[in-house]
Amino acid sequence: MARVVVVGGGFAGLSAAARLAKLRHEVILIERADELGGRLRGFRWDDHVWQLYPETVTLPGVFRDLFRKSGRQLDRVLDLAPAPPRRHVFVRGRRRDVLDLPFGMRGDQSAAIEQAFGADQWSPWVDSLAPRWDALRRRVLDEVYDGVLEPGYRRQIRPRRSLRRVARRELRDRRLRSLVLDAASLEGDDPMHTPGVTAVWHYVERNFGRWSFDGGLPALADALARRMGERKVDLRMTTTATDVRRGPAGRLIGVETDAGPVDADVVVWCAPDLPSSTPEPALVRRIPAPRTLLTLSEDPGILDDMVLHAERPVRVWRSGPSHWVVENRAGGDALDALAEGGLRWRGLVESRRDLAPRELVLLGHDGWAWRGWHATAERPGSDTRGGLFFAGAHAHPGTSLEMIGLATAAIATHLGEVPRR
Ligand SMILES: Cc1cc2nc3c(=O)[nH]c(=O)nc-3n(C[C@H](O)[C@H](O)[C@H](O)COP(=O)(O)OP(=O)(O)OC[C@H]3O[C@@H](n4cnc5c(N)ncnc54)[C@H](O)[C@@H]3O)c2cc1C
Repeated sequence: MARVVVVGGGFAGLSAAARLAKLRHEVILIERADELGGRLRGFRWDDHVWQLYPETVTLPGVFRDLFRKSGRQLDRVLDLAPAPPRRHVFVRGRRRDVLDLPFGMRGDQSAAIEQAFGADQWSPWVDSLAPRWDALRRRVLDEVYDGVLEPGYRRQIRPRRSLRRVARRELRDRRLRSLVLDAASLEGDDPMHTPGVTAVWHYVERNFGRWSFDGGLPALADALARRMGERKVDLRMTTTATDVRRGPAGRLIGVETDAGPVDADVVVWCAPDLPSSTPEPALVRRIPAPRTLLTLSEDPGILDDMVLHAERPVRVWRSGPSHWVVENRAGGDALDALAEGGLRWRGLVESRRDLAPRELVLLGHDGWAWRGWHATAERPGSDTRGGLFFAGAHAHPGTSLEMIGLATAAIATHLGEVPRR
């Protein structure tokens, strides 16, 4: 039996711990806070829990697989419901084009695009992403990725071809191009330096849909926290891990914490701060866009998720009955940015809080920018032979819950099951 120490009890740590405990490893989870869930718990302000990212997920299979392979099935614990379309408003001078893009069905997306733009250039392009998604999933996401791409995969994934180049070459319609490029900008990536293969996200959303958890992400955190008890994970709360410990010949022997050393054969590091002895990767930090939290006096009557494609994109989503979050890459005042897209909300605002990038970084909302799949080896990657693995928003393959779920699934597959005695 391997003794596994998981550092951090956010979605990454909880999903890693649940899977590994079910595979009969002895799992200890070290969490700095007095509550499990990390950012799934949202941000508390003004008697409300705000989600600083839109709350929906794609790839529902990642979540179903996690629950199935760690105990009771997801649908016996939590409901997943399909999310409504996302509204895209394209601003050019005085002109506003509106597209309500549904998820999950090719026919529905095609009809929406035809209705908005007259012709559907989008669906055949999204179809063409299928082999790239397949290659990515197989070689980069379903395994603990070692930074090496064989020629066949390299041809599909083309690490050095930028997203901007892909969008410019493959999409003629300016609005569709901005739909693709703005999705990356909103994540904090520069489309010039983001690998084109990340466009597969549009294929994923279309084919697998977007979904929301009944009770939101805190309900997901509660369900996973319960699973820690069911799987007898040894929880060490209010404990901060600072580094990994190595013995003779550099062999990993545990972690260092503020409550003393903890022995381990394997460490899965799921906290945003790297172990102090791990060198910082030579990559740029992603700077989050400012967020503005708004409580409105009446329902503004828009879809729950909207992107405004102006010179720089703005995204706005519902985070409660009368609560909205604005992610504002455009800079300036968020309400002015919204007014550009026709949302004149100034008179409706009951309370408001602006979160600057610096505050968001302090809350742990930064990350590493993508500079190509080849660069993932420089990111905090996994030292598979040495028994040190990284997962979570700050590790390969990225920040969204689906990517984190795939990373912990790959680690569990890599470590395998402990044979019954
Ligand atoms: C740039 C960026 C973009 C994002 N984009 C998306 C997105 O598109 N969609 C989406 O759904 N989410 C997004 N997120 C949010 C993020 O993926 C989710 O909120 C997710 O829940 C993060 O899970 P995690 O476990 O990696 O980290 P966290 O939820 O932050 O959990 C880390 C846990 O570790 C604990 N901890 C920290 N340091 C230590 C330590 N030294 N020792 C012990 N415990 C420690 C913390 O208390 C916390 O509980 C984004 C995040 C970033 C940074």
